[in-house]
Amino acid sequence: VRRLLQELKGKENITLDGKKISVYANIGSLADVGTVLSNDGGGIGLFRSEFIYLGKSSLPTEEEQFQIYKSVAEMMAGKKVIIRTLDIGADKQADYLGLEKEDNPAMGFRAIRICLSRPEIFRTQLRAVYRASAFGNISVMYPMITSVEEVKKILRIVENVKNELTESGIPWGEVEQGIMIETPAAALISDLLAKEVDFFSIGTNDLTQYTLAMDRQNSKLDEFYNPHHEAVLRLIEQVVRNGHREGCWVGICGELGADLELTERFLRMGIDELSVAPGMILAVRKQIRNSTAGI
Ligand code: PEP
Ligand code: MG
Repeated sequence: VRRLLQELKGKENITLDGKKISVYANIGSLADVGTVLSNDGGGIGLFRSEFIYLGKSSLPTEEEQFQIYKSVAEMMAGKKVIIRTLDIGADKQADYLGLEKEDNPAMGFRAIRICLSRPEIFRTQLRAVYRASAFGNISVMYPMITSVEEVKKILRIVENVKNELTESGIPWGEVEQGIMIETPAAALISDLLAKEVDFFSIGTNDLTQYTLAMDRQNSKLDEFYNPHHEAVLRLIEQVVRNGHREGCWVGICGELGADLELTERFLRMGIDELSVAPGMILAVRKQIRNSTAGI
């Protein structure tokens, strides 16, 4: 790692034929930011904010969330920080939410579905995100999207939160709006979704699970689970194409983004960003510098 760091520190992630790629990191807490910086990460491509909600006895307050997002933004000093809004459900439980046990939590009441049904929870998080945006380069993205209507509802709530902050004289900065593409439905209507947002981040963990109809947590399926399945790769390619047509940038934040065997294939599809576990940043950056994007 030290040798790779010496070799790559401060260098651009540029392919042999001259395409620049952003390599960001996935984090679950403020404590992970140090590792991102020590691995020379270019930003945070996925902050799994649900960890702020787990292991507590009540909902985190706006102030509590604001302090965390602000600290991450300040530590990243102007580099992009993409906060994913609450992605919780019957599999990742927080008792105080009073969610009923479900037979099929992966397909249940979770993530954006909870946020749109209980807008007071969502608004609290968005207020914290927007307040923190005055202290760094913050973007926000929404998980488990399946329809254009959901995105329109979200963006209306966002507008409302911004107006509310302005009226109270609370400063906020520009926040890019993105969605995760992690359901086959979202991938298939990515041409329509792209008209609504600034960027796409492809969640290949869930996209693979839902496309192959294979539970990502069931180890009995290991012999059937093919992360390089052509169906998933075709969806990714389609999402990149549809995103670019409407001016969205497109990244990958699922595990597949760190799969070095696929790096060049993703680059040839035109992917703009890869967000990976902090420990994979340098390896992915090196792989990019040894690949061609075919532009
Ligand atoms: C994904 O689904 O690929 C993803 C990045 O989100 P998570 O792993 O948190 O579901
Ligand atoms: Mg996911």
